[in-house]
Amino acid sequence: MADARENRSVTGSSGPHRVDVHLHLSQWWHEIRRTGYRADLEYSVRGLLGEMTRNGIDHGIVIQLHEAPSVRDGLAEARAIAAESDGRLHPVTTVDPTRGEEEVRAALALWETAPDLAGIKLYPGYQAFYPHDRRLDPVYEYAHRRNLPVLVHQGDTLEGRGLVKYARPLELDEVAGRFRDLRFVLCHLGNPWVNEGAEMVYKNENVYADTSGLLAHPSVPYFERMVRQARDVVYSAIVTVGRPDRILYGSDWPLEELAVAIEVVDQLDLPAPDREAILGGNARRLFGLPEPPRRPGAS
Ligand SMILES: [Zn+2]
Repeated sequence: MADARENRSVTGSSGPHRVDVHLHLSQWWHEIRRTGYRADLEYSVRGLLGEMTRNGIDHGIVIQLHEAPSVRDGLAEARAIAAESDGRLHPVTTVDPTRGEEEVRAALALWETAPDLAGIKLYPGYQAFYPHDRRLDPVYEYAHRRNLPVLVHQGDTLEGRGLVKYARPLELDEVAGRFRDLRFVLCHLGNPWVNEGAEMVYKNENVYADTSGLLAHPSVPYFERMVRQARDVVYSAIVTVGRPDRILYGSDWPLEELAVAIEVVDQLDLPAPDREAILGGNARRLFGLPEPPRRPGAS
């Protein structure tokens, strides 16, 4: 990995205003020492902000885990993290529609008290529902009213007990069509169904995709090959879509080291401004984040 980092391209590193759209920081991540990219990583607001700064990332989207004991607890934790971050971290909440109508109604009421919410995350695959489940309609209507992006977990689940049949990109098609004005983020490009993911982005102008979570733990024997493959896969997806403006850099930290996740995008054979858009500009537009200060001399 050291080699890969040293080889990071010079053009890409000129962007000190990147945005990571897929971060997790939670006391309910019990397996952090085993599943984090390094056993001794500093799993705290300070640790995360430090790693972001070292990698030129000024803003991050912190996504609540489905393991939080309740929506209330998860939301309170996410907002506390955001408050501690000096405006750099933005909270995303979640709800499980299989827990029933009352749970969804209570979640909407709680979100009403959180003006700082950056988006809503859904976990099909980890939880047994499809994104087009009608029980989610109130969530989609709420997100639409507040103009919040809905981030949808897609593809492989970290846990063997997940059911990936719920998390195939094709399952997003119907609801993306029903809620044309709502913006969706197809997480992980739907890995390993990346072609399906790219098709969803190509077909539906309200669907974005993030590049997070494409890598396994760095201890797997073929890790370096995986990094190379991730680059090929992301490149192929972007070319399938035909444009870079709805592709978003994300890491899935602490599963992936930020430097390695960035490298996947930073070494793509694309014009430098397009790589920078994927590393930050697209997310800034999607989440309404403040524009970075203009660099002197920049056109
Ligand atoms: Zn994630």
